[in-house]
Amino acid sequence: MPAPDTSILIIGAGIVGLGTALALTARGERSVTVIDKESDLAQHQTGRNSGVIHAGLYYRPGSLKATLCREGRDRLEAFCTAHAVPFERCGKLVVATDAAELPRLDQLAERGRANGLAGLEVLGPQEMQRVEPRVRGVRALFVPQTGIVDYAEVCRTYARVFQERGGRLVLGAAFAAARRDGATPLHATRPDAQPEHPRGHHPRWIIRTDSGRLPEIVADTVINCAGLHADRIARALGARPSLRIVPFRGEYHELAPHACRLVRNLIYPVPDPRFPFLGVHFTRMIRGGVEAGPNAVPALRREGYTWRDISLRDCAEVLGYVGFRRLARRHWRMGAGEIHRSLSRRAFHRALARFIPDLACADLRPARAGVRAQALAPDGSLIDDFAIESVDGAIHVLNAPSPAATASLAIGERIADLVRPV
Ligand SMILES: Cc1cc2nc3c(=O)[nH]c(=O)nc-3n(C[C@H](O)[C@H](O)[C@H](O)COP(=O)(O)OP(=O)(O)OC[C@H]3O[C@@H](n4cnc5c(N)ncnc54)[C@H](O)[C@@H]3O)c2cc1C
Repeated sequence: MPAPDTSILIIGAGIVGLGTALALTARGERSVTVIDKESDLAQHQTGRNSGVIHAGLYYRPGSLKATLCREGRDRLEAFCTAHAVPFERCGKLVVATDAAELPRLDQLAERGRANGLAGLEVLGPQEMQRVEPRVRGVRALFVPQTGIVDYAEVCRTYARVFQERGGRLVLGAAFAAARRDGATPLHATRPDAQPEHPRGHHPRWIIRTDSGRLPEIVADTVINCAGLHADRIARALGARPSLRIVPFRGEYHELAPHACRLVRNLIYPVPDPRFPFLGVHFTRMIRGGVEAGPNAVPALRREGYTWRDISLRDCAEVLGYVGFRRLARRHWRMGAGEIHRSLSRRAFHRALARFIPDLACADLRPARAGVRAQALAPDGSLIDDFAIESVDGAIHVLNAPSPAATASLAIGERIADLVRPV
């Protein structure tokens, strides 16, 4: 039986893959197939995040994150409005609890203005309590544009609209291997797989999956949106990215119901500019309840949601990577602090009680965790900006950490520009 044909195959039905599928179908692309290895949507980053619609405060002006976060936020709010997905623009407070943080808070306000955020307010101790009555700090920045949403619901709605436009979504079909038209051998998802086709020539892709329903699929263009596995799949498709995806778990606690009144909306620390993670914060969830987190600890498996989830292959790959060893040498002290906060609820609580002294340790209950797909360069630097590469008839999303959920529709447009310029 001949393999089914598609013009465009997207690997990964997370919010980035489906955001891309929507952008392509909105441009009239009729033949788009999205596959995902899981039998349900939003099983990984998309369904395990903080649910914040980021305003675009933190990112270097002119970077992809700055541009696509802002555009993506507008598109996301319009999409949610059009499709009755609940969201709220509730605003957030970034709080300096120590005078030493004030220069960084001021720089953040400047950056926000440079990124086009109107209405930012710098608040003193009394003023900040009008926004969040239980918070304590020396100065705070109020960002009115920040919002909350349930990204799993957004993702399911993207999937529904995509299918209504004639797109094909196949769940439970994992990418296994790829070859080009013309009987070259299959590239397996091995790190050492070599490209075996001439550069600049774009024969069709023949993609094998592990699904009996769709064992093989032929595609003109492949778009790799596989999140935590995107670097491996890029290599299997013949690309040679020097970066590696290193999984960083973010663990949450939820506030006991009686403690939820301590937090009205979103309360964040002033971030450490050396890291792309924002520090543990309080987030009111759109479905109710308040979560605190996420921290950032190395995961022992790409999809390792607890310390007991271990993959020897994944650990060996991370430890064998020169970029990780350099990062660990540089930041071991910070890493040890994060691991301590992961293993000790008291330490986690201390990080949060800086902002809300009335919060008791007993008010925190361990909750779910997410794993960030964070790209790391060989020199040990965490890649800060989104990374999207087009190589030989395939497009690879190699770094799409936060705020990629906020930016998903704008990232989709950017990828669609690479495939089908308007
Ligand atoms: C703890 C945490 C908090 C965050 N908070 C926020 C936030 O508040 N706001 C925000 O904007 N962003 C946030 N983010 C970032 C955001 O969640 C991600 O940037 C976004 O979800 C990335 O989407 P994705 O589609 O690239 O990845 P994913 O959602 O991980 O999707 C990738 C998909 O690829 C599939 N896949 C993998 N391998 C294969 C294969 N071999 N074959 C087929 N399918 C495959 C997976 O099953 C998965 O469904 C957060 C992330 C984390 C982890």
